[in-house]
Amino acid sequence: MTPTMTVRENVSLLPYNTFGIAVEAACFAEVASVDELRTALRSNKLPVLVLGSGSNILFSKDADALVLKNSIRGIEVVRRFSRKVWVKAGGGEVWHDFVLWAIGQGLGGVENLSLIPGTVGAAPVQNIGAYGVELKDVFVKLEALDLETGAIRHFSKAECRFGYRDSIFKREAKGRYCITSVTLSLTQKDHRIHLTYGDIKKTLEAEGIEKPGIADISRAVIRIRSSKLPDPAVIGNCGSFFKNPEVKREIMERIRERYPQLPFYELPNRPTHVKVPAGWLIEQCGWKGKRVGNTGCYEKQALVLVNYGGATGEEVKKLAYAIIDSVEQALGIRLEPEVNIL
Ligand SMILES: Cc1cc2nc3c(=O)[nH]c(=O)nc-3n(C[C@H](O)[C@H](O)[C@H](O)COP(=O)(O)OP(=O)(O)OC[C@H]3O[C@@H](n4cnc5c(N)ncnc54)[C@H](O)[C@@H]3O)c2cc1C
Repeated sequence: MTPTMTVRENVSLLPYNTFGIAVEAACFAEVASVDELRTALRSNKLPVLVLGSGSNILFSKDADALVLKNSIRGIEVVRRFSRKVWVKAGGGEVWHDFVLWAIGQGLGGVENLSLIPGTVGAAPVQNIGAYGVELKDVFVKLEALDLETGAIRHFSKAECRFGYRDSIFKREAKGRYCITSVTLSLTQKDHRIHLTYGDIKKTLEAEGIEKPGIADISRAVIRIRSSKLPDPAVIGNCGSFFKNPEVKREIMERIRERYPQLPFYELPNRPTHVKVPAGWLIEQCGWKGKRVGNTGCYEKQALVLVNYGGATGEEVKKLAYAIIDSVEQALGIRLEPEVNIL
């Protein structure tokens, strides 16, 4: 075992999850390299849970597992083309720090994904997305360690099977790999600027910026997100708790007979379905701003469940399923959690 890495027993996970849930891991180690990862796994008999920043996990009970906190760092340009570069980043890099690094280097493609909490290694797991951009738009490949065999495996974009907040790592390969690095293709010039989603354009116009660059977009996204989403350092949460459901067009039309103001978005690749904002559905059922014990539905954004202090994971989970049942009874749509409930 290397002197920098130790496997500890009965470790509190309170500092390692943004919901601020006080549970323990049977065993815990922070790994800063693939070698340390292999060392931690060598004599382990427990199930393994790879943890990034814990910003998309709700612990409903103690983790009877070896929890491996991924702290594998490093960012390097690995290939240069005339317009683009490929950048390889360690799975334990903080995602937002990576975004700021890219902008500092004048590299475009991830600016709309500014301020998303979490690590680079977790970003492909749910194909993180915001303000009209998803990780898959810049993704090239990743390297992962097979937790069963210890072998390194490479995944191409097609092999990751990215979908909306989804990938193979939430399905067939769930829990099987630790993503150790991710390679992204970023633009050096002629950046594609995505302005149309959310309030980006409005925010920039208010600042008098007519021809925004990537740094302007990042600043606008940071400003919008900070005004809408609760800061986990202040109030425990995991961002959007539920996915926006994709429903059959007939179902949307049936709901619109009762709620003509129901918003929906077309899905270019799935014309039989439309996407409906889960926050709107939850709000119609009267949950927005409602507090239940130490947990509740955030007053500014119904999609976000929060921990007002001292909530248990079981409490949050119960609230989540009460919301799911109530939306289904009232509107006939069953919401799915986006957060990983353990
Ligand atoms: C305030 C707030 C706002 C958010 N906004 C957004 C948003 O706009 N868009 C969005 O997509 N998400 C958003 N999220 C969710 C979250 O930021 C992302 O899902 C992020 O990618 C999670 O990263 P993490 O390192 O915290 O993962 P964790 O929560 O630690 O882990 C999440 C899952 O991935 C697995 N995992 C983690 N690291 C690895 C790895 N290296 N290899 C294999 N599996 C791994 C874990 O086992 C777990 O199943 C938000 C969260 C918060 C708190």
